[in-house]
Amino acid sequence: MRWEEGDLHGRHVAKASGASASIEWDLVGPCNERVRVRDYTCDCQSVFYELCQAGGQRYIRRTTRKGGRVVVEESVRIAASKTDVLWALLLQGDAR
Ligand SMILES: [Zn+2]
Repeated sequence: MRWEEGDLHGRHVAKASGASASIEWDLVGPCNERVRVRDYTCDCQSVFYELCQAGGQRYIRRTTRKGGRVVVEESVRIAASKTDVLWALLLQGDAR
């Protein structure tokens, strides 16, 4: 049986479409916050995303690997329901 991509990889963000919502990203430093990752995209990409929950807040974490450096950014914290909408748009390639 041939391996399908889904067997080896997590989800990939779709190619950007025309109409994009823009996510406001903040650089983050190390913190001690207890974070639960609710969803994530495949980390085979140089940029991957995680949907994080910390306490009552939900946000998206973007990890960018570039030339041996790793940059972690987090979306500005907004209502959890709005973060879920952004996450769905992101997966569709409709938010950056
Ligand atoms: Zn992958």
